[in-house]
Amino acid sequence: MTLAGYACDPARSRGRRYPQAAAPTRTEFQRDRDRIVHSTAFRRLVYKTQVFLNHEGDLFRTRLTHSLEVAQLARSIARALDLNEDLVEATALAHDLGHTPFGHAGQDALDECMAAHGGFEHNLQSLRVVDELEERYPDYNGLNLSFETREGILKHCSLSNARRLETLEPGGVGRRFIDGRQPSLEAQLCNLADEIAYNAHDIDDGVRSGLISLAQLEEVPLCEEFRVEALAAHPHLMGRRLLFETIRRMLSAQVFDVIDATRLAIALARPVDVEQVRQMPALVRFGEPMRERSTTLKRFLRLNLYRHPQVAQTTDCARQVVRELFAAYMSDGAQMQAGFAARPGRPRAVADYIAGMTDRFAAREHERLTGQRLLDLSRPEHAG
Ligand code: MG
Repeated sequence: MTLAGYACDPARSRGRRYPQAAAPTRTEFQRDRDRIVHSTAFRRLVYKTQVFLNHEGDLFRTRLTHSLEVAQLARSIARALDLNEDLVEATALAHDLGHTPFGHAGQDALDECMAAHGGFEHNLQSLRVVDELEERYPDYNGLNLSFETREGILKHCSLSNARRLETLEPGGVGRRFIDGRQPSLEAQLCNLADEIAYNAHDIDDGVRSGLISLAQLEEVPLCEEFRVEALAAHPHLMGRRLLFETIRRMLSAQVFDVIDATRLAIALARPVDVEQVRQMPALVRFGEPMRERSTTLKRFLRLNLYRHPQVAQTTDCARQVVRELFAAYMSDGAQMQAGFAARPGRPRAVADYIAGMTDRFAAREHERLTGQRLLDLSRPEHAG
C-alpha cells in the first residue's frame, strides 16, 4: 500500500483513549478493523434491515451486506488515491453499528421516544457502540479504537451532542462539528461510498421486490445512460442480467468519477498532510454532472421506494413496535437484560437496549410484552 502525504498514516495516529503498545504484525487501523469484525454489534448487522424488513426475503441487503459493499467501494477508491485502505475498511465496516432494528423507521421512532432525554442519532450511536457498549476487554468498555477510525464513524452529529462530546473528550471527535471542519479524506470517502452503495443496491432490491419496474428506471438519467450503453455492447441482454449490467456500469462510472474529481480537487488544494485536509473544504467528491445525476436518483428512490405504500405499511408497524417496547421497558426496567436494567439513567439504557436489537428479536420482545404480533418474522422466504 503506497500512502500519499495527505493520507492517514497509522504510525502517526492520534492514538487510542486507553494507550496500548503497538501490535507486532498489524498496523493500528488493521487492528481496529479486526476488533470491529469480532464485535457483537457487527454480527447483529446480518439481522438488521436496510430498507426491507429481514423476513421479507432472504436475498435483500441487510446492514451487514451493505457495510461489506461500502467497504469494497471505499477500498477500491482509496487504493487509486493512495489513501489508507485499512482505515477506510475499518470505518466502512463500523459505520452502521449503531443502527436500530427496522432501518430508518426504527431510528425515527426511537428519536421521538428520546426527545425529552437528549434524542437518538444513529451515527452517534455507532460511536457509542465502539466507545462504550461493546464489553470485550477486562479494563475498559468499548473497543478502544484509534482516533481516526472513531472520527470516520461519527460522520454526522448535532451541535448539542458535539458539545457534550467535547466536554467528555476535549479536542476529540466532536470538535470538528463545533469548528465546522472536515474529517480525514478516508472518512470523507466512506461517506460518499455509503451513498454510492445504497443508491445502487436499493435499485436492485427495489426491482427484485417488484416495487420498482424496469420501465420506471428509464426515467432516471443515471440508470438510463448505462442501460443504453449495456444494450449497445450486448444487444440481446434483457431482464435481470440487463439490470445487473446496468448497475455494474453505473457503479464503475461513479467510482471513476469520484477518483477523477477528487484527484483534481487534491491537486488544486495541495494538502501536505491530514491536518491540512481537516482545515479545507471537503475534497472527496463527485464531479458536478455526476453529483446532479446522483441527486436525481436519490429523489427517485425516495419517492418510489422508501415512500412506497407497501414499504410505508411495514414501517408504520415497525415504529409502533419500537414505541411500545420503549414504553414497556420505561415502566418496567426489569424486563430488559440484567446489565441494562441495572444501569442508572433509564431512558438511555432503554434506547441502547432497543438500538442493539435485531429486527426479529425486537418483534419477539414486542409480542412477549404486549401479546400482539405486529410483524411476523418467523417465516423467511426466498424472493426473486
Ligand atoms: Mg450506510
